[in-house]
Amino acid sequence: MLTRRQFSKLIFGSGVLVSSNLGRAVASPAQSASPDCDLLIKGGTVVDPSQNLHEPLDVAVKGAKILEVSPNIPAARARSVVSAKGKIVTPGVIDVHVHVFEGMGPIPVNADLYCLNRGVTTALDTGSTGYAGIAGLTKYVIRPSATRIYALLDINGFGIMMGLAGEYANPEWVNSQATAWAAEENRPDVVGIKCRLSRETTGPNDLEVLKRALEAAKISRLPLMVHIGDSYSPLSEILGQMRKGDVLTHCFNGRPNGILDTNGKVRSEVQDARARGVFFDVAHGSNSFDFDVAEKCMQQNFTPDTISSDLAATSVNGPTFDLVTTASKFLLLGLSLDQVIERITVRPTRIFDFAAQLGTLRPGTGADISILEVREGSFLFTDTDGKKRMGRQKLQSAATIRAGRLYVNRSEDLTNA
Ligand SMILES: [Zn+2]
Repeated sequence: MLTRRQFSKLIFGSGVLVSSNLGRAVASPAQSASPDCDLLIKGGTVVDPSQNLHEPLDVAVKGAKILEVSPNIPAARARSVVSAKGKIVTPGVIDVHVHVFEGMGPIPVNADLYCLNRGVTTALDTGSTGYAGIAGLTKYVIRPSATRIYALLDINGFGIMMGLAGEYANPEWVNSQATAWAAEENRPDVVGIKCRLSRETTGPNDLEVLKRALEAAKISRLPLMVHIGDSYSPLSEILGQMRKGDVLTHCFNGRPNGILDTNGKVRSEVQDARARGVFFDVAHGSNSFDFDVAEKCMQQNFTPDTISSDLAATSVNGPTFDLVTTASKFLLLGLSLDQVIERITVRPTRIFDFAAQLGTLRPGTGADISILEVREGSFLFTDTDGKKRMGRQKLQSAATIRAGRLYVNRSEDLTNA
């Protein structure tokens, strides 16, 4: 591990490049007198896989924390009441793959507009930058956003900032020591390392990029997220290097070197990797979700560990739109509502160390809550290859509560408790 001085010398010769962690701002608890809770979410169905809950329950919030989850909490106890009638109330939804370093190149989007406003309270920016830009991401995006944001550092210093392929073309930019140093300096905001292994990003050097990314992940004791899709090397060689706790992202992409063999079977090395503790993440995006691949995997009981959107400027206007739309595709693919909610709430907390208790509505934890509507009807969904499927259910965000504060997304449904 480099010291701060060594790191600075390595990059600029002197000076400090990465600011130290300033601590996460949290809303201060309200002073309550007679009513003992500030916000009461009433009449909804709580779906909280972390506690095996799926039943009609009210949720009381005090300050920035969950006070109580129980049936029929009297409205008189609350300063304000929100009706969740006909809706589901879940732990704050977590999207483990987004790009929200807004302003840094053509790819990232605004976090609050596309995450919080679409039902997501926690989002992981996966490699929009590497060590070079993490101080900027922290200062200008993570701190000011209402969405709770964490980062995975790309193993090249500037991540995907240029929006061009070939970000690993210069080996000087792929520095495991500098990346590990920046990860260490920016905890707990940084929760992992990321690398993108496709022909257009690495050329023939994918295994060298993977080696350096693993090195950084090992030094910083963090999970490595590996992007796949038309990699130069066979998937078996990539998976063979991945460790328990690492994450393969874009798992249902339809490009060469995917997780299915030529007969449409889930490759044995993929099953082996899962048995070893490697996680498989969806990351839909603009180029990485194929209905045929997903269906074949689901038929073989190979379901994703986490469902994520890969939100970016290239996908927010379709075919991804947002996380709840991506999650809805798994309802039509055969997962139950509880299985879908589990993959966007508690499952991510078993992969990443958020230094906070997320993904649960347990009293005493932070009041990050999603109020979702499960709409019934006929909904047409499109994958990244243009293939279409008709679904009978669609998840839609009605409101989000972040650190006890209510953000209403469709206010007409949240009146008359
Ligand atoms: Zn991505």
